Amino acid sequence: MCIFCKIVDGEIPSNKILENEEFIAFHDINPAAPIHVLVIPKEHIESFNDISAQTMAKMTPFIQEVTKKLALDISGYRLITNIGDDGGQEVKHLHFHILGGGKLIWKHYQKNDPHKSL
Ligand code: AMP
Repeated sequence: MCIFCKIVDGEIPSNKILENEEFIAFHDINPAAPIHVLVIPKEHIESFNDISAQTMAKMTPFIQEVTKKLALDISGYRLITNIGDDGGQEVKHLHFHILGGGKLIWKHYQKNDPHKSL
């Protein structure tokens, strides 16, 4: 069972912000910004590649509710989902990162990647 499925099952504790029948939002254990929250579906979906339009349509208002609860809808935030190896996805259970609470930097590409050029 993956680590986020264990969070869903309550086997691993999490610092929850919001939960409904289908989704959970909780604080990232290793925050990359003053506010760093993860939003996951309770169902094990590997990545954004695999989410259905129907589930995404329900996940969108849930994410918006989380950002409102944290007042990030006013100050601004970044919403990211990492996909696969190049995307840097470590946990293979779909999650959206909500990052905010301060000005964020915008820099992504690893320039020393020998396999690719811009
Ligand atoms: P990613 O690299 O997109 O797969 O992001 C995985 C994220 O999960 C990282 O930001 C981790 O800090 C976070 N993470 C891993 N384990 C836990 C946990 N038990 N509780 C909260 N966040 C976690």
